[in-house]
Amino acid sequence: MIGLIAGPQGCGKGTQAKFIERDYGFKPISMGDLLREERDKDTDLAKQLKEIMARGDLVPNEITFQLIKNSLDVYDKVLLDGFPRNMEQAEWVFNNIKPNFMIVIDISEDETVKRLEKRRICTATKKIFIADKIADKDIEDCKAAGGEIIQRDDDKPEAIKHRLNIYRDQTEPVEKFFVKNGVPTFKIDGAQSIEDVYESLKEKISSIL
Ligand code: AMP
Repeated sequence: MIGLIAGPQGCGKGTQAKFIERDYGFKPISMGDLLREERDKDTDLAKQLKEIMARGDLVPNEITFQLIKNSLDVYDKVLLDGFPRNMEQAEWVFNNIKPNFMIVIDISEDETVKRLEKRRICTATKKIFIADKIADKDIEDCKAAGGEIIQRDDDKPEAIKHRLNIYRDQTEPVEKFFVKNGVPTFKIDGAQSIEDVYESLKEKISSIL
């Protein structure tokens, strides 16, 4: 069974995907994480990815198809996070994977900018922090894991604006495509608290499982 989870950057998809994994056993596969893993290797592909991703552009579709194929073989219940993100990917997913449902967590552009500007990440554990709420212990734990807490290049103001434009122009049509093609699609208000977003989500997921 395959679910999709989508929404603008900073909407909290990663957090909600972890709750869904805990309660329903769907393995979250984040395209952003898969790509960051590839980007941090010492390969020609990594060099190409570094530039594209720092700008906040989408990487070529073929690369994403290959990465997804490798991961899908491993699990039978999967939640794809951040894929598909344009119409060509959506058609590929529809023809090759036949998703069972789609969740869209919606937040406004202003809220996205506010959240991303404050987002920080531990380079080792990939744990996400809010800039003005990082405790000394968080810094120590990240250091102990061999990393440091940084702001991602693509969470800087220029890249954020660019990524939002891409979301509006290329990713939003994906939702309409799946609705039109009969994939059960649930839109959740992401401006609520994390707990309330998950309550709304559970209701929707339970209705189709
Ligand atoms: P994310 O962590 O989901 O915001 O993704 C980080 C970056 O990875 C994006 O800004 C893109 O450069 C790239 N990326 C993630 N998902 C996709 C996708 N489905 N197609 C192409 N590029 C992607």
